[in-house]
Amino acid sequence: MGFFDGKTAIVTGAARGIGRTIAEELAREGADLAICDLDLNWLAETADSIRSIGRKAECIGVNVSDWPGVNEAVTTIVKSMGHVDILVNNAGITKDAFLARMTEENWDAVISVNLKGTFLFTKAVSKPMMKQKSGTIVNIASIIGLIGNAGQCNYAASKAGVIALTKSAAKELASRGIRVNAVAPGFIETKMTETLQEDVRDQMLAAIPMRRFGNPTDVANAVVFLASDAAAYMTGQVLTVSGGMVM
Ligand code: NAP
Repeated sequence: MGFFDGKTAIVTGAARGIGRTIAEELAREGADLAICDLDLNWLAETADSIRSIGRKAECIGVNVSDWPGVNEAVTTIVKSMGHVDILVNNAGITKDAFLARMTEENWDAVISVNLKGTFLFTKAVSKPMMKQKSGTIVNIASIIGLIGNAGQCNYAASKAGVIALTKSAAKELASRGIRVNAVAPGFIETKMTETLQEDVRDQMLAAIPMRRFGNPTDVANAVVFLASDAAAYMTGQVLTVSGGMVM
């Protein structure tokens, strides 16, 4: 028996990184998955992994910032899987530069994927979720959306926007039986952190009270909790997963 037996979950940006781990953890708790990423072919490994856990995996190639594509993706998922119970808006990008050097293209690209993409998928699933009078949405924000960061004005603004969107959608959808929450990860162990110079890595670690980077499972565990009935009385919340870096 898992938290999500009989439920269907959509995870965006599920080809790799945190999104892939979130999809696998939801599957371990019994959910069937609709996994989305820019290119359908990149999803093969995640899909194999979900099927090896014993759950269904439907792969969808979609750009989260393209409304017709997102709308069509959600329509297809509802048709083939019957219902959509969980949405995890995970797809995200960075295009870092200091303010003076940040181009308009860098700004638009990050806002378009991180913030507009979260809005579009939330809008698309809200319709079937309102009809069925149930659903949970978990948005992946970042501690950078809470505290800001030099060189990341676009990313910080997009993630602060995701937090504000989370709270507004939570207020709007609560009476329809839909909960909307966010997870704000700190530094998570990725390919990027693996290749950091030792002194930079040490500096980053010194800012984390628990003295370790997080891993994708740390984030996925928070997502599982918020999406599950264990969080049945929580909506509009931001759960920080940062080893105590942000309190
Ligand atoms: P990642 O490894 O780069 O994975 C993100 C996935 O999203 C990639 O497969 C990416 O495809 C996909 N994607 C990008 N743009 C897309 C679009 N327009 N439509 C659909 N899919 C798209 O990133 P991650 O580190 O796992 O991060 C996942 C989420 O956690 C992001 O929202 C990120 O901001 C957030 N986060 C990460 C950290 C961290 O330390 N890693 C910390 C805080 C928050 P491509 O391969 O083409 O890029």
